Amino acid sequence: MINAPKGTNDMLPADSYKWRAVEDAAHAVAKLYNAKQIRTPVFESADLYLRSIGDSTDIVNKEMYIFEDKGGRRMALRPEGTAGAMRAFIEHNLGESLPLKTYYIESLYRYEQPQAGRYREHFQFGAEFFGSSRPEFDVELICMARDFLNKLGFKDLTLKINSIGCPECRKQYNAALREFLKQHHNEICGDCKRRSEVNPLRALDCKIPSCKELYKSAPKISDYLCDECRTHNESVLSGLDANNVKYVFDGNLVRGLDYYTRTVFEFEYGSLAVMGGGRYDGMCEQLGGKPTPCVGFGSGIERLIAAAEKSGIEFEMPRPTVFVAAQCDAARTECRVLVGELRKKSVSAECDLMGKSLKAQFKYADKQKFKYVITIGESELTGDTYIVKNMDDGSTETVLKNDISDKISGLVLRSIL
Ligand SMILES: [Zn+2]
Ligand SMILES: [Zn+2]
Repeated sequence: MINAPKGTNDMLPADSYKWRAVEDAAHAVAKLYNAKQIRTPVFESADLYLRSIGDSTDIVNKEMYIFEDKGGRRMALRPEGTAGAMRAFIEHNLGESLPLKTYYIESLYRYEQPQAGRYREHFQFGAEFFGSSRPEFDVELICMARDFLNKLGFKDLTLKINSIGCPECRKQYNAALREFLKQHHNEICGDCKRRSEVNPLRALDCKIPSCKELYKSAPKISDYLCDECRTHNESVLSGLDANNVKYVFDGNLVRGLDYYTRTVFEFEYGSLAVMGGGRYDGMCEQLGGKPTPCVGFGSGIERLIAAAEKSGIEFEMPRPTVFVAAQCDAARTECRVLVGELRKKSVSAECDLMGKSLKAQFKYADKQKFKYVITIGESELTGDTYIVKNMDDGSTETVLKNDISDKISGLVLRSIL
């Protein structure tokens, strides 16, 4: 027997409704914000990620799936969503009409040690907004993130936010941080020693407890922001206040990607980040496009579902409506005809496809949680009525054959309202 690769998940029929609920919420909220869906290939030239994500990140150093295709090209499975969206934005000249709001639901691949909430293949709902450096752009994106999480039913999330400045103000900060790391050279981990040379900011994202503890006393980027970055940050925070978005300013928050500038943020459930994002004003130019300021977020769907269930959110499993059971083989054709009529009225309906006995058909209908069962036997074949059984309370109702579709679609409508 062949099993699924390590670090991957099968989305099974019994759970798919939860995914559907998350995706429906994503589409619905994106529509409210006039964001349009984008789909990009699952593999791209490896260079795209090397150039956009930054070669000092763990993703590029350790976690990318890189392979050579039969034409000798170096390709990579998509490790994150932003670079592909940006590549498409530049390639198709989407910058001609700005702002442009996009979103995607797609799979990502990272070769990491599987652990809770981390997989080698995982799915993400992400948004990328192109075109404005104004603080209201950051606020608009964060509001969309908040509305999406609210729509799923989250009530107790913490939004952490920080500004990590621009390349200008980060120069000074990097020097100060490098000095700090140098002073504590013997206390930091090997990765952080390397980071302190390549990209000291990256060290602040270290997951090793002793490093984490030490960095609480590290210099804070917020003390080094240039005037423009400081003003931007203040306007973002006051914009969040005005939109009733609660947040915690966290001077130690950095994200695991090099391309962020100014705003970075995370929504946390407990200590688990269920969504993260920020501003990335330099990426477009870096990939050969015109300078285009952008903001974006990403949210891992597996983690979101796990956090939602932990916080007591119940996803509603959609129930099929009518099962038409055959009491005898002579009734099977009429069962199929009735099922067809019901489906025409947009009522979900099914009849037996396995040659089951009436008892076994009822067992199936019960297990599948059908709301109603109509049984067709000798008397229904010759008569002009059906008996509709409500599976929740066991009550029955006799309905004229001619009225059955309207009656059932009326019942369905009433149960929705
Ligand atoms: Zn700055
Ligand atoms: Zn470390």
